Amino acid sequence: YAAKQAKNGAVIYAPDIDKSSQQSLSLLSEMRTALERNDFRLYVQPKVSLTNGEVVAVEALVRWLHPERNFIYPDQFIPFAEQTGFIRQLTHWMMNASAQACREWKNAGIHLKISVNISTRDLMDQELPEKFANILSLHQVQAADFCLEITESAIMDDPVRAHLTLDKLHAMGMELSIDDFGTGYSSLAYLKRLPVNELKIDKSFVLKMEQDIDDTKIVKSTIDLGHNMGLRVVAEGIENAKVMNLLKELGCDQGQGYHISRPMPASELQPWLLTWSQHQTI
Ligand code: C2E
Ligand code: MG
Ligand code: MG
Ligand code: MG
Repeated sequence: YAAKQAKNGAVIYAPDIDKSSQQSLSLLSEMRTALERNDFRLYVQPKVSLTNGEVVAVEALVRWLHPERNFIYPDQFIPFAEQTGFIRQLTHWMMNASAQACREWKNAGIHLKISVNISTRDLMDQELPEKFANILSLHQVQAADFCLEITESAIMDDPVRAHLTLDKLHAMGMELSIDDFGTGYSSLAYLKRLPVNELKIDKSFVLKMEQDIDDTKIVKSTIDLGHNMGLRVVAEGIENAKVMNLLKELGCDQGQGYHISRPMPASELQPWLLTWSQHQTI
């Protein structure tokens, strides 16, 4: 095991890794193996219009099907993937899997936008727009079929470089969304200059709307702010009908959450869409 580590300079010299942490080192090598063995899975969660209930998009969410530990959720490995730079390979895998799914859905007459999450490390890669363009042409899908979700903190890590990459991606025709809005630090004056199409209100506010009037006020203010800036506003973390109706009343454009659907394997989307079109109550 030690020899394997020594051979890999990236592991040993990665500045953010606690070198004494055997756990994070073995996690990195396990992530690499998982990629080789194709153990990552594309899950999708529908985003619906709160005006008419139509499914407008799906968010791509990664799952790791570990041979011994069963499913591993992103919160348990995405931070490590970001620290070690492995995220770039994972983003590539997710973009490719999403483009492939997009092609299959189009062939079946289903046209939905796909939102893919990207990280700071991705934005620092000057070649990201070109890499994405190659994936799109490989699967014969369009940049306009995609929306990229980026957190405020990912942008603020290096605003100048992030802005440059985001401008290129937007110029290609991809939409941009600010994910987990309200949890990071970013100046509105700065956000205003970015080519953003959508604000996604963080689920921490949405989950507490029922119990805490302050959270409802934050959500309402964010919806108004987004609309005043000409942006679409999406709420994540809708767990019941009451919260969904409240968001509707507040004028929120789209919603996503367990009340509508949990994330599901991409292969299950088509049957789910059929049931939704027959039973949805928005
Ligand atoms: P996110 O992008 O903010 O995604 C929303 C998360 O909220 C997802 O968790 C989703 O399953 C969860 N969620 C959706 N509806 C509800 C609900 O009604 N109630 C509750 N309690 N949770 C809900 P997930 O899939 O575990 O992903 C967690 C985070 O990991 C994501 O947050 C995103 O930041 C990151 N992530 C996931 N997949 C990727 C990926 O492919 N690339 C990158 N860079 N990050 C990813
Ligand atoms: Mg997201
Ligand atoms: Mg989010
Ligand atoms: Mg979130």
